[in-house]
Amino acid sequence: MKNKTLFSQSQSNEPSNHDAKQIKLDRLTELFASIISTIGEDLHREGLVKTPRRAAKAFQYLMSGYDLNIEQVVNNALFKCDNNEMVIVKDIELFSLCEHHLLPFIGKCHIGYLPDGKVIGLSKMARIVDMYARRLQIQESLSNQIAQSLMNVTGASGVGVVIEAMHSCMIARGVRKQNATVKTCAMIGSFKNDPAIRKEFLTSLHLPGAYSFSPPSEDL
Ligand SMILES: [Zn+2]
Repeated sequence: MKNKTLFSQSQSNEPSNHDAKQIKLDRLTELFASIISTIGEDLHREGLVKTPRRAAKAFQYLMSGYDLNIEQVVNNALFKCDNNEMVIVKDIELFSLCEHHLLPFIGKCHIGYLPDGKVIGLSKMARIVDMYARRLQIQESLSNQIAQSLMNVTGASGVGVVIEAMHSCMIARGVRKQNATVKTCAMIGSFKNDPAIRKEFLTSLHLPGAYSFSPPSEDL
């Protein structure tokens, strides 16, 4: 451990973050080229010449949540506050890739929490959503991860997260249902234990009936 620390502090030949990103991009480009040629397409066709690189860059962007952690995202944007009423941010746009098919699911995330002496910068809530969404996901886990990290970082007395999303893997393939929306929620602390708090949150999202049971996440 000691050696490792010394090593990382010295001028080593280890690739920098930028180099490592470039190596990954090159590798992804090769792999996308391989996918395109495997389906029988001509990689030299005009429209496809730059596609492997473009697809690699797009994929790297969509997976950029792996390069971040919660401390970087929150960046100390926590503020003392003696107002302990519920804070709700609705309709945070969400774009993620399902880990089963690598197809997009797109929707909205709603977050509520009950501060306990500390609030988080509002834009940070959207950044937390993006960090977890830009990883391979299933919607159920995504709701939980957002709720848990917000709880950890703010020390709130409770957090609720509801995600409503449409899944390409249900629309374009498989059961091919164009209008099915998947709703998931994660309730922690007072949001889980106190029906009045949960109701206040869900009512403000105009979702009173659907989630008036406990615990909601297991029934979805
Ligand atoms: Zn899927």
